[in-house]
Amino acid sequence: MALRIDTHTHSLCSDGTDTPGELVAKARVVGLDGIAITDHDTFDGWQEAAQAATRVGLLLIRGVEISCRVECISVHLLGYLPDREAGQLQQTFAAVHEARQERMCEMVRRVGEDYAVSYADVLEQVTEGAAIGRPHLADALVAKGYFANRSEVFDRILGRDSKYYVPWVPPTPLEMVQQVVNAGGVPVLAHPRSAGRNRRFLSEEQLAELADSGLFGLEISHREHGAQTRAELSEVAARLGLRPFGGSDYHGLGKPNLLGENTTDERVIDELAERGAIAILNRH
Ligand code: AMP
Ligand code: FE
Ligand code: FE
Ligand code: ZN
Repeated sequence: MALRIDTHTHSLCSDGTDTPGELVAKARVVGLDGIAITDHDTFDGWQEAAQAATRVGLLLIRGVEISCRVECISVHLLGYLPDREAGQLQQTFAAVHEARQERMCEMVRRVGEDYAVSYADVLEQVTEGAAIGRPHLADALVAKGYFANRSEVFDRILGRDSKYYVPWVPPTPLEMVQQVVNAGGVPVLAHPRSAGRNRRFLSEEQLAELADSGLFGLEISHREHGAQTRAELSEVAARLGLRPFGGSDYHGLGKPNLLGENTTDERVIDELAERGAIAILNRH
């Protein structure tokens, strides 16, 4: 039977709600053969996830989801990496964390004019070392009783067009494709057409440029892509020689996405392994 591997999941180390160990255990429970742990802008979950994966015999890919932007287009880049601390990426993440802290101070100031919430309240929602973002501010507002859940906060006051929204300046996708490649990793574009991000997407020319720089795949199977979008992206991927990926983008209780609801074909996983750069544990 074909292996089922979900190549996009989050833990408490970014904005998910499961510890890396719980994430791995739940992957087993839902019958997955493997997952990639892809927290935002950090490798912090890798060690605990690897230990848990070894315990329960789950295939684990060490990954990360990097926030990027170019020409006002928000882009999330998945990087699947070898089992080592990739120098330049660590520095990039440190800079990102600092920029995000400054931006969150300003968002808390704005939101604080209408809701009793402080930076300390937001910090309570952040695992040490995680990149602070809107999900944590949302969780703080839920904890204070203003909203029922994170999605409601986003829908009502944390969208990009909200008066509380403060932008920050992420690196470009081209830079980050290069950094992932330089670290011996494999870059894949996460949910290239997901809604809610200004509805602006990379053009095929921009995708071709990334492909020339080493982009390996497009995450086509994702809950924010309808059938039509998936068909279009499959054609783009075929034209540019990019592999099709599928991931749940599971965030625990932070989003409705279900672990394992999308998976990546085993043949693509094999190619990741063949590229040698991917640390895959417990491969049977
Ligand atoms: P930020 O990087 O701080 O601007 O926040 C973006 C993060 O918020 C993304 O990584 C998503 O995981 C999360 N997010 C965006 N929209 C929503 C939503 N409607 N509900 C829950 N989480 C969301
Ligand atoms: Fe997220
Ligand atoms: Fe994403
Ligand atoms: Zn994600």
